[in-house]
Amino acid sequence: MTVRQLIRPVGILGGTFDPIHYGHLRLAQEALEQCRMRRVRFIPSGTPPHRLPAQATPQQRLEMVRLATASNPAFEVDEREVFRAGPCYSVHTLESLRDELGAQQPLCLLLGSDAFLQLHTWHQWGRLLQLAHLVVMQRPGRPLGNAMEEADEALRAEYYARLAPSPQRLQEQPSGAIVALEMPPLDIAATDIRRRTAERRSTQYLLPDSVAEFIQKHQLYTHAYR
Ligand code: ATP
Repeated sequence: MTVRQLIRPVGILGGTFDPIHYGHLRLAQEALEQCRMRRVRFIPSGTPPHRLPAQATPQQRLEMVRLATASNPAFEVDEREVFRAGPCYSVHTLESLRDELGAQQPLCLLLGSDAFLQLHTWHQWGRLLQLAHLVVMQRPGRPLGNAMEEADEALRAEYYARLAPSPQRLQEQPSGAIVALEMPPLDIAATDIRRRTAERRSTQYLLPDSVAEFIQKHQLYTHAYR
């Protein structure tokens, strides 16, 4: 039997990051540690296909991600989506990352449980698992165990067929496994941060001070909240 060498995975965290907050950062840190990743790449989205356009500009969202990740040498920021006009699909991003990093490198798409439960609505979602593993992090209010029973049938079938007993599986093959992880629950959402900012309430301790200062300096999210 040939024993495949274990390769530490690269994590990919896509998001609108409007703005980035401690929920995103802790998710990335937990995945990094629990899955022995070599690094996590943050990829701010361009024009998101499933949602309203972001309130901050692409440049501002990118800048906030840079500020929030600057102190962590294992975090990197990727601009490949953010300035693209028109819809950006994760499957195309993963294809370009696969070309860049090679066929053997384990790639892990990091998702909160809310995002994972919508995966069946993503463009060519079945192909995502040919390109990468999925690492699903429990998000408060969206527990995966119960939700899976009511999830889309095809998604549920993929989940149970591919669920790996431990994160070690992610180092053994380049793609195709699903791992569900726990993190200290942080019930933080960008929507809530935008609402608090519009209502002139404090957002301290929900996101890094550097990001809060940027929001204040550029007067982001001060008007009509959504
Ligand atoms: P919004 O409130 O505008 O919907 P958001 O806070 O959910 O934004 P996104 O940029 O949409 O942030 O999220 C990117 C990814 O991070 C998604 O996979 C999402 O599930 C995950 N995520 C966001 N917040 C948390 C959190 N508090 N805990 C765990 N995962 C999170």
